[in-house]
Amino acid sequence: MLPKPWSKALEHQREAWLRHAAPELGSSLLSWWARHGRRGLPWRLLPDGRQPGSDDLLPIYPIWVAEVMLQQTQLAVALPFWRRWLDRFPDLEALAAASQQEVLHCWQGLGYYVRARRLHGVATRLVAAGRPLPHDRAGLERLPGLGRTTAASIAATASNCPEPILDGNVRRLLARLLAFPALPQQAIPLFWTMVELLLADRGARDFNQALMDLGALVCRPRAPLCPRCPWRLHCHAYARGIQHQLPVRQAPAPIPHFMIGVGIVLDHQGKVLIGQRQPDGLLGGLWEFPGGKQEPGETMADTVVRELQEEVGLTVAVGLELLRFDHAYTHRRLSFAVHLCQVVVGEARPVANQQIAWVWPHDLHRYPFPAASARMIQALREHLGQA
Ligand code: SF4
Repeated sequence: MLPKPWSKALEHQREAWLRHAAPELGSSLLSWWARHGRRGLPWRLLPDGRQPGSDDLLPIYPIWVAEVMLQQTQLAVALPFWRRWLDRFPDLEALAAASQQEVLHCWQGLGYYVRARRLHGVATRLVAAGRPLPHDRAGLERLPGLGRTTAASIAATASNCPEPILDGNVRRLLARLLAFPALPQQAIPLFWTMVELLLADRGARDFNQALMDLGALVCRPRAPLCPRCPWRLHCHAYARGIQHQLPVRQAPAPIPHFMIGVGIVLDHQGKVLIGQRQPDGLLGGLWEFPGGKQEPGETMADTVVRELQEEVGLTVAVGLELLRFDHAYTHRRLSFAVHLCQVVVGEARPVANQQIAWVWPHDLHRYPFPAASARMIQALREHLGQA
């Protein structure tokens, strides 16, 4: 059973308890991390590959890129993208000199493309102004897309300054450690106080990583591995056997579903029509085949005809259905019906896109596309015998 509702008295009791337990919790966490943590992440090493000492400064650019990638992506997925990015754009100047298309191409497959556009925008502005990336949390927090936790994590990793973090992993850990019986979002100021107490006056470089690793590897969202946890003797949730009920979660909102009609238009030479989305918003700057949502009462052929008229000013005849598939994003599910089309009348122009292009099918890989388009390109190549 969850404990009785949280009260100011209980909050003061837990805070006093944590003040007392913090030295033991901190040292057992760091001992655990020395044996089981994810050490040796490349942006946490000195340029010559050695582990940094507590007074060493690490280059901030690779850390900034890593932390932005990790905002919505798991470490194992982000790591190869980070390596590819650092090969392609090894410093702020190289990133600023690249085109947005090169940047999006390098990010392709990682999702939440606004992150890539922000990295590029920051690099462009700083290099133009002759300024470096800031090194302190306050300066980093002024960059677009960086909240307190990401800014603190970058600053602490680079310089080992005493800046605590409070990401999703740490919120879950604290909710269980304290047996907090409500949504963690209702306790953000309290949780910041708690991580400050836990960190005390240590350097935060290893401590923050250890907290994140304990949350990701042991105090996992669905199946916490309490027998392996260095905090099990202190944990209020474990003592009550309620660790699986915490943190309290909001009922998930229903995920909307849309049918999408897509037209692959080939001209008389065999080139295919693609359009580049507007620079801002969802998937901004990426290329795609024209198409859009099916309206009530429309057949899929009606949808394709209307969307191509609205997006690129073409009247088309809808032909063979090349492919039908589902694709899930975090907040919506899409079902695509992809049709080959022939132009009946009109000249393609960018009505809804920022630009359009007629491209040889074998050159499509040169353009950054969203993940769902990769399946359409593959189906087109197979249809044309170019797979
Ligand atoms: S004992 Fe279990 S619930 Fe408590 S912090 Fe450790 S892993 Fe999480």
